[in-house]
Amino acid sequence: MTPKTPVTRHEIFQTSLMSALLDGVYEGETQVRDLLGHGSFGIGTFDALDGEMLILGGVCYQLRADGGATEARLDAYTPYAVVTNFVPHISSELPRNISRAQASAFIDHMTVSENYMYALCIEGQFRSVTTRTVVKQQKPYRPMVEATDDDAVVEHTDVRGVVVGFRTPLYEKGIGVPGCHAHFITEDRHAGGHVLDFQLEQGSASLCLGTDLHLQLPLTDAFQEANLTPENIDAQLNKTEAHHAEA
Ligand SMILES: [Zn+2]
Repeated sequence: MTPKTPVTRHEIFQTSLMSALLDGVYEGETQVRDLLGHGSFGIGTFDALDGEMLILGGVCYQLRADGGATEARLDAYTPYAVVTNFVPHISSELPRNISRAQASAFIDHMTVSENYMYALCIEGQFRSVTTRTVVKQQKPYRPMVEATDDDAVVEHTDVRGVVVGFRTPLYEKGIGVPGCHAHFITEDRHAGGHVLDFQLEQGSASLCLGTDLHLQLPLTDAFQEANLTPENIDAQLNKTEAHHAEA
């Protein structure tokens, strides 16, 4: 039987697991140069949680705790990242002057089915974007629920920029961040972070539908010894990724 909406197979590449990051596995064996070979668009973090990662147009940016952004070194390592070669399968103008929650509800209606993965790109003029950024950790590494207590929150106001993220089905909880996980960078590429909230004045959204997950697990001792199925994973994800009740 032919499906209602034709869907093209599209691969999303991921290194390690969100649950490994939660358990303090902050060192990976994948370099930025390898990651870019799997996708020109994506998000993640760097070894020792040294900032948030955002990849756009094949360039990898490092978003640091002071809210600033620089190009990442190609030989930097990542303990967790998700990338794809973004193809805008579905695009739409967004209603003007909307909150993140309103944008999210609008984007829900753009998707074909909530059972696929989506890379998400929002470009536009923002009244405000609230971001937080992880702070570089020292060994011995603490679990992420403690490490994120150091997070720096920055408010970017009246700025053009791009939100780069992924919408991940709930069945992927622990593999990724269920729901939407997004990072922001300004148009001049000088500032950004992990998105907590925004007010969008005017902009558009594009979705790239993912059907195939290429998951690359680390071969490190830390990964092999990690507890990847904690009982309180919902609370951990909520504290580290959302910082508020609705994710
Ligand atoms: Zn993030």
